[in-house]
Amino acid sequence: MAKRAHHLNTDRSRISRLWHNYIAPQKTTLIIAVIFMLTLAGTQAAYVSFTRYVIDFADSLSAAGDAQAASFDFVKITVPALIVLTLISGGSMFAQTVLTNKIALNTIAGLQKDMAQSAHGADYAFFARGTVGDLLSRFTHDVNAVTQALLRSLSNLFKDVFTILAVLGTMFYMAPKLSLLILVIYPLAAWPIIKLSKALRGNAGEAQAHMGRLTAQLDESFSGARMIKAYGLEGHEINRLDSAFKERVRLYLKLVTNQARVDPMMEVFGGLAIAGIFAAGIYLVSGGEITGGTVAAILVAVLILAPRLRALGTLNNVVQEGLSALRRIYDVIDETPQITDHEDARELTAPSGKIVIDNLSFAYEDESVLHGISMTADPGQTIALVGPSGGGKSTLINLIPRLYDPAAGRITIDGHDIKGLKLQSLRRHIALVSQDVTLFNNSIAYNIGLGDANAPREEMINAAKAAHAHEFIMALPQGYDSIIGEDGDRLSGGQKQRLSIARALLRDAPILLLDEATSALDRESEAKVQAALDKLSQGRTSLVIAHRLSTIEKADKIYVLGKGSIVESGTHKALLKKKGLYAKLHAGFK
Ligand code: ADP
Repeated sequence: MAKRAHHLNTDRSRISRLWHNYIAPQKTTLIIAVIFMLTLAGTQAAYVSFTRYVIDFADSLSAAGDAQAASFDFVKITVPALIVLTLISGGSMFAQTVLTNKIALNTIAGLQKDMAQSAHGADYAFFARGTVGDLLSRFTHDVNAVTQALLRSLSNLFKDVFTILAVLGTMFYMAPKLSLLILVIYPLAAWPIIKLSKALRGNAGEAQAHMGRLTAQLDESFSGARMIKAYGLEGHEINRLDSAFKERVRLYLKLVTNQARVDPMMEVFGGLAIAGIFAAGIYLVSGGEITGGTVAAILVAVLILAPRLRALGTLNNVVQEGLSALRRIYDVIDETPQITDHEDARELTAPSGKIVIDNLSFAYEDESVLHGISMTADPGQTIALVGPSGGGKSTLINLIPRLYDPAAGRITIDGHDIKGLKLQSLRRHIALVSQDVTLFNNSIAYNIGLGDANAPREEMINAAKAAHAHEFIMALPQGYDSIIGEDGDRLSGGQKQRLSIARALLRDAPILLLDEATSALDRESEAKVQAALDKLSQGRTSLVIAHRLSTIEKADKIYVLGKGSIVESGTHKALLKKKGLYAKLHAGFK
């Protein structure tokens, strides 16, 4: 079990980590964004002052001598001023949007890179533990949730808060009493809407959960087409799906009905609040405390504030979702491998390939799988592992490139304990061919060269020839440069297998691990793959797991593994004579 790096697991520590590692390095961008946000806030406050200025001027015109000349002078100044103000406001809005998105995107890219690095650096056990789908969803879904939370926080906590403060400041400066009154009324008017938003969240959750169930049901229904047709269950399935569709109508109608209440409620409560402001405003105007322009300005201020305050109210949901996504992302980033180089690890250079396994035991978590295994493979020998499924053959093979470390005992190569070797150098001398061939959606050359399409072509062709792959490769439209499609789905099982053998040949490692490499093939493909494998194992120490015992009759030594221990060992002939488990397995395969 891999140990987690020690980090404080609180939301605060996660946020501070996000800040220090990912956002703070973009400080310059953030500062520039904040400057534009402050400018934007200033322009919003300026609109409020501007309203008062214009209306109070209009008010004073009746008292002016030459009203027409006065208004012309006024317009000459105010119209260009207003245009400049809108240009500044628009420009700032644009700049801060681009900059905050840039910060969020770079932050996410940083998280993704660290996740990818940790995931690839993690022990093999990390992949055996969780599903790849779950890991993928952390790269996509969770990353998306963090982006949304980050953008909303930057926008609401910085931009909107600046605007709210600037506008409130202007309001209080113009009409302290009226502003205070609004601060008291506003939460009262917002209360029913806040309650409704809570209900809405519940409705949305229900609808989403149902959508998930419906998808699962559809999947089940159509993937089971064979059974459904054979048993004539179509009618039953259609009824089952139909009731799910109807349930969807019910849930979404409930959601939409509550959603539809929001705007009219805002209209009514907003109207009531504005009416209150009017009444109080006119009362204050009549007492000579404020001007009509001020009342108008306060109304404009309220219109600017309302959507921003509402956004602050819903920020928490988005942030909570972002934080739980961030936790899942950090879980991946904090994955620290246990199988690493020792401080004084040595390079393994040009080994002859002698493998000695000495009294080795191994357990997954707490489940003991191998006990007291000892075996020797001399350079160039082929050693076969056979036995019933679940006996521990694959596990044993995985211990040689240190995908796992044994609980007790040791494995040596040319006399060096593999734990004392540099991992990279150990793995460089091992080639693995298993029944699930990993292929990349790239050219044949890239796949044989293992990520290097430019490996010397001649060597590549020689490897492919030896692997009986050259012929089918040349029959492809672009030969070695043909793109093979996702997971090699344009190739047959045997062809994929032969590509992976060519890959192993090119790698030219002295130690070869073969994990049931031919078990999934038909007889003809198997014969070709077997011929390729025979070439591959020439001059290499090979550890072979085979289901079809006919393929390992020529092995130098066969070990029979049952329930994690070596039951018997010897050559094919000797084991047959013994009439033990091997002989029984062999008879079963005839
Ligand atoms: P074989 O290759 O002989 O079929 P394996 O080495 O695959 O046997 O499995 C040996 C035992 O270890 C089985 O009981 C299997 O369930 C268990 N096992 C294999 N892989 C894992 C894993 N990643 N985590 C936990 N248990 C495992």
